[in-house]
Amino acid sequence: MTDVTLIRGDGIGPEIAEAARRCIDATGAQINWDIKEAGIDVMQREGTPLPDATVESIKKNGIALKAPITTPVGTGFRSINVHLRQSLDLYACLRPCKSYKGVRSRYTDIDLVVVRENTEDCYAGIEFEKDKDDTTELINWINIHGEKKIRPDSGITIKPISVYATERIVRFAFDYARKMGRKKVTSVHKANIMKYSDGLWLDVSREVAKKNTDIEFEDRIVDNMCMQLIQKPELYDVIVLPNLYGDILSDLCAGLVGGLGVAPGANIGDNVATFEATHGSAPKYKGLNKVNPTALILSGVMMLRHIGKTAEADKLENAVAAVIAEGKSVTYDMKPNRDDLTAVGTRQMADAIIGQIKRTK
Ligand code: NAD
Repeated sequence: MTDVTLIRGDGIGPEIAEAARRCIDATGAQINWDIKEAGIDVMQREGTPLPDATVESIKKNGIALKAPITTPVGTGFRSINVHLRQSLDLYACLRPCKSYKGVRSRYTDIDLVVVRENTEDCYAGIEFEKDKDDTTELINWINIHGEKKIRPDSGITIKPISVYATERIVRFAFDYARKMGRKKVTSVHKANIMKYSDGLWLDVSREVAKKNTDIEFEDRIVDNMCMQLIQKPELYDVIVLPNLYGDILSDLCAGLVGGLGVAPGANIGDNVATFEATHGSAPKYKGLNKVNPTALILSGVMMLRHIGKTAEADKLENAVAAVIAEGKSVTYDMKPNRDDLTAVGTRQMADAIIGQIKRTK
């Protein structure tokens, strides 16, 4: 048995967590689920949206399947998702984007993976607010010491990119490519403009590539990459990006393959990995047995691969693909018309996937 923390989240979280858990169990993967709470429901009971017991369980087990969590507004708590990524040093965000037959999209045959650096860049949270003393001091310093001037009425966000973090994320992209039998890594940047941050990213990417010559390597400037992904997405395989470009291109790539309902993800560190859908807690659908469980189930497929349960992962992915391709037992968002009365609920879609797994045993 493998111990895995299951975070049920809030909003639609508990429903899709239950659907994903049942589908994973049906593969015979032998998971011992350690069910833990996080989010606004537990906050009302325990006064914190992220109880210590939940974090301890993730640290102990090293693996978590996590349903979405609402970011509380106006409570003094920051995003629990960001907090988890930072406190557990989950430095790599993985977003596979794959076309499944039956999912409506402008493209077919896409199979690429976005690897986003999770800890640095403009997301480091180092910001200076307009008109504050520190900001004025910083602006004055730059205006005295630098060639370029900053207007006094500016706000400033710092963009740190280090050798350490770049090296480990690009190495991660190569290791992931090798493990998954992929052929190429593309490093994305704007080194022509930001010479000391993105320039460093590009130099380090090239150095890491020299140590991984079994995998093809190339680089792309981020604006060109956006156009290429729209025009020739089939040319790309594993794409590694700094945090901000990674955030934007992850959504672009999710759009290429049919959107949020089918976009799985993972946040991975050296000791801990959490697997979660790209979408949020969609509170307006809470408790309605309506939303699509696919993204969290496919995150479960990623989790099974991560822990070496490849046969079970294949079984589950094939079953999801078959149910989607048939297009009968799918939720409203996967029907050509969203008011289609033949759409099934979250539970029923999971039942269909489980039925498919059992038929192919
Ligand atoms: P959302 O992804 O929750 O919902 C946006 C819309 O997408 C929904 O109204 C719904 O129409 C659709 N949708 C989302 N998931 C779906 C599914 N499984 N099946 C069918 N349709 C689906 O985004 P939001 O409304 O911006 O965020 C709601 C809350 O979730 C916020 O508090 C946000 O901070 C949080 N959030 C959490 C995570 C996470 O836990 N990783 C990620 C994103 C957002």
